[in-house]
Amino acid sequence: MRKFLKTLFPVDIFKGMKLTGTHFAKVFATANRRKVKMHVTEEYPEVPVKLAPRFRGRLTMLKDEQGEIKCVCCLACEKICPTQVITIESGKKEGRKTKIPTRYDFEMERCIFCEFCVESCGFDSIILNHQFELAAYNREDFSIGMLGESQNMFGLTPVGKFSYSDED
Ligand code: SF4
Ligand code: SF4
Repeated sequence: MRKFLKTLFPVDIFKGMKLTGTHFAKVFATANRRKVKMHVTEEYPEVPVKLAPRFRGRLTMLKDEQGEIKCVCCLACEKICPTQVITIESGKKEGRKTKIPTRYDFEMERCIFCEFCVESCGFDSIILNHQFELAAYNREDFSIGMLGESQNMFGLTPVGKFSYSDED
């Protein structure tokens, strides 16, 4: 009989709702007293997300004021990367004293965003930018890189199917 009544009147649900309501009222009252903004969710993607200055997004190569690739192929980032996702090949460019990467591959799907590569770079040539929308349909699309100066290792370019080598 008791079981039947319980089925008929879902007392436990009301108990749970009462508990939730009490908590909500308490939080609301406290927030009002402290003048805390109750709205804690972001209207993403309509409103851009405010990221912390030190947010670690996608690995990106930098150029200097003259538009030259800053990387000098010291290979420090490649060596320090704990997941071994950076592959660099170096070359020479006329008029440039230091080496220049002819290939810089970054397999992002295995990057753990530790920032060791950036810290190890003594030439401020790479950063982890604020790009966080990094979804892709295919595994290959996470392999990004550069060959020459136009591929997606620079800036906020989309994740795409760019993994180059001189042989491609
Ligand atoms: S952030 Fe860490 S895991 Fe990612 S490429 Fe740099 S060193 Fe490697
Ligand atoms: S540590 Fe900096 S300069 Fe050295 S290879 Fe990496 S990106 Fe280039």
